[in-house]
Amino acid sequence: MMSDDCIFCKIINGNIPSKKIFEDSDLMAFHDIRPIAPVHFLIIPKMHIESLNHFDATHQDLLGKMVLLAPKLAKDFGLKGFRTMINTGHEGGQEVFHMHVHVFGGGANLPKT
Ligand code: AMP
Ligand code: ZN
Repeated sequence: MMSDDCIFCKIINGNIPSKKIFEDSDLMAFHDIRPIAPVHFLIIPKMHIESLNHFDATHQDLLGKMVLLAPKLAKDFGLKGFRTMINTGHEGGQEVFHMHVHVFGGGANLPKT
């Protein structure tokens, strides 16, 4: 369930401090340490799952909960719109191998993708 050398597992168990936004039995959300937008936070499962490549059908509810939390928390920050991003694997730009959803917004203009 936990990985000893995972930075996000350490955040979950309190061994590394974070600016926590939300926590329940399955999920946690906290501010990104290097924000790329005025609001930039991460939603993570408490269960250590490396990346989206490691999700399967048994994780459907968990994934649904993660995605549905994004607009709820974005609203708390007054965002009318926001962008979500899931980097997957080295080739997908993933640096922390505990799956997370980036949520960012609050900038005047987000670049077009
Ligand atoms: P990714 O490239 O999708 O794996 O994104 C990892 C994200 O985690 C980056 O945006 C980092 O700024 C962020 N990050 C790394 N360490 C921490 C930390 N201790 N607290 C909060 N965010 C972190
Ligand atoms: Zn982890």
